[in-house]
Amino acid sequence: MSSELDVLLANNRRWAAATEQREPGFFTRLAQQQSPKYMWIGCADSRVPANEITGLDPGEVFVHRNVANVVVHSDLNALSTVQFAVEHLKVEHIMVVGHHGCAGVRAAMRGLRVGLADNWLRHVHDVRLRHRKRLDHLPPEVQEDILCEMNVIEQVGNVALSTVIQDAWARGQPVSVHGWVYGLKDGLLKDLQVSMDRPEAVVPVFSAALKRYPRMANPGTETDTDTD
Ligand SMILES: [Zn+2]
Repeated sequence: MSSELDVLLANNRRWAAATEQREPGFFTRLAQQQSPKYMWIGCADSRVPANEITGLDPGEVFVHRNVANVVVHSDLNALSTVQFAVEHLKVEHIMVVGHHGCAGVRAAMRGLRVGLADNWLRHVHDVRLRHRKRLDHLPPEVQEDILCEMNVIEQVGNVALSTVIQDAWARGQPVSVHGWVYGLKDGLLKDLQVSMDRPEAVVPVFSAALKRYPRMANPGTETDTDTD
């Protein structure tokens, strides 16, 4: 049966042959074990493939993806993946990676109904509400990109506060959590400077990251807090 999928299988055969030719024994070595230094938590969006963007080969980055790169404390799927990455693979860096132009974030920003995923995107909607004073004064097209970034910052905080990371830090395991955003228009990753590598860093780093997104100027009344 000839189908569009045959093209993919043919591509795969060519890729496997080229990889083996470039690096003899590549698959044999990889089949023995994986020892990635990095974990990527990203959006399921097809335009944001972790390995290609970062120039990493198979075996170099452990990946978890879902709609709008959300990490919540009741999501056993995400937390189990983080736990495996930290406790068994001993990854040293976990990157939460959002991307501008994220449809999930756009739906949360505009209050669009998309179906079952509305319940999942409620988490992003909550981020929007929490930081509305830093968002509402911005033009709509900018709001969405900024919410993408704020969502990353919030999820970095969630990863850092997870029992998995807290326990790792408590036993002295070196693992840090980072927040990046990917630009669909230029293919570039931007570091949101929210890296955390110990418990004491979580609150100050989180607060400093959020304060890079100013509230609307309102002289005389503004007392900046981290809880808006
Ligand atoms: Zn997305």
